[in-house]
Amino acid sequence: MGIFRAKQKYIARERVKQLISFAEKVFSKDPKLANHYIDLARRVAMKTRVRIPPELKKRFCKHCYVFLQPGVNCRVRTRNDKVVYYCLNCKEYMRFPFLKEKKLRKRKT
Ligand SMILES: [Zn+2]
Repeated sequence: MGIFRAKQKYIARERVKQLISFAEKVFSKDPKLANHYIDLARRVAMKTRVRIPPELKKRFCKHCYVFLQPGVNCRVRTRNDKVVYYCLNCKEYMRFPFLKEKKLRKRKT
C-alpha cells in the first residue's frame, strides 16, 4: 500500500468514526438523522474499503443498518462467550465474540 493510499484510508477511518459519533449524539433527538449518519459511514467504509472497527460495529444493525442504542431500540445479552444484540427494528440478532482479553489469557496458559 502506497503512502497516498495509506493516508486516504486513515482519513476514511477517521471520517467513519466521526460519522458514527455524530449518530450517537443526535439519536435521542432525531433517530432518522442518526440512521442517515450510519448510512454515510457505511458508504465511506465501503467506497474506501476501510474496515469498521469492531467496537463501532456494535453501534448499528448489520441487517437493517439503524443506529443501535441498547435499552432503546436493541437488547443486549451475554451468552457463553458471546454478546448478542437483538435489533428491535428488524427483529434480527447479531452475535459478537466476547472481549479479546479472555482469548489472550487462554493463549498464555
Ligand atoms: Zn435491525
